[in-house]
Amino acid sequence: RLPVPEEPEEVHELSLEFNRLLHSLNEQVIRDNQFVSDASHELRTPLTAIRGHVALLKRHGQAHPELIPDSLAVIDDESMKMQRLIESLLALSRMDHAKVQVAAIDVAGLARRVVARFQQQSRQQLEVLLPDKLLALANAESLEHALLALLSNANKYAPANTVVTIAGEQHGRRVELSVADRGPGIPDNEKKRVFDRFYRLDASRSKAISGTGLGLAITRRLITLSGGTITVLDNHPQGSRFVITLKAPNSENL
Ligand code: ADP
Repeated sequence: RLPVPEEPEEVHELSLEFNRLLHSLNEQVIRDNQFVSDASHELRTPLTAIRGHVALLKRHGQAHPELIPDSLAVIDDESMKMQRLIESLLALSRMDHAKVQVAAIDVAGLARRVVARFQQQSRQQLEVLLPDKLLALANAESLEHALLALLSNANKYAPANTVVTIAGEQHGRRVELSVADRGPGIPDNEKKRVFDRFYRLDASRSKAISGTGLGLAITRRLITLSGGTITVLDNHPQGSRFVITLKAPNSENL
């Protein structure tokens, strides 16, 4: 006689749990596969250009030395692009296993320091709307990296001499930090996807503004690891407004 399970309820629960686990593992494998295939695709593009110019120089370089400087410039550019891409990919993969320390820090002071550091390289006018002090739960290094990424994007995608506003405010238990520009903005149906790995708007690709499409994916990862969220909204009258939302510390965190 077969043994009857003593707690069929529990067995049922376990098998459901097992199914859920299998399902999520499956999804993870699909995501990883997609990642590897996207990464290979993005690396192949500069590599093809490099190999093309190497072949050109091998065949015609001696007879036509005037080809050399242009080809070398392409090889230099494209290999730098590959290097940036590989560095970003490594950063992302390190973060897959990362645990970050979160503490109550003055994010207004931190944002002011980031702005001061970025000031010289900015093509825009940086406007700062921050209180003297604004406490939030965050990881200082991650938040610095995130704000720098948002400022460099504003710098890249918004026209020179326009205003970029860095603001911070507390709303009840939430603290919001935002970077708003007067650039082309992001259409509603793309707002979620700009945080996906390798996603770039066609407008940015076609204007040949350099980028890997990894900056915002890394930024989102850093912010979620610190327990926050990041979204993008329309800026008024024009442009985009990236908002980082963090938790305000309660008395226990202070
Ligand atoms: P990258 O800038 O390297 O392409 P990101 O992940 O930082 O990658 O951004 C993804 C895409 O989102 C960009 O290619 C661009 O199309 C769009 N984007 C990001 N920031 C802005 C911005 N401030 N204004 C308009 N478009 C933006």
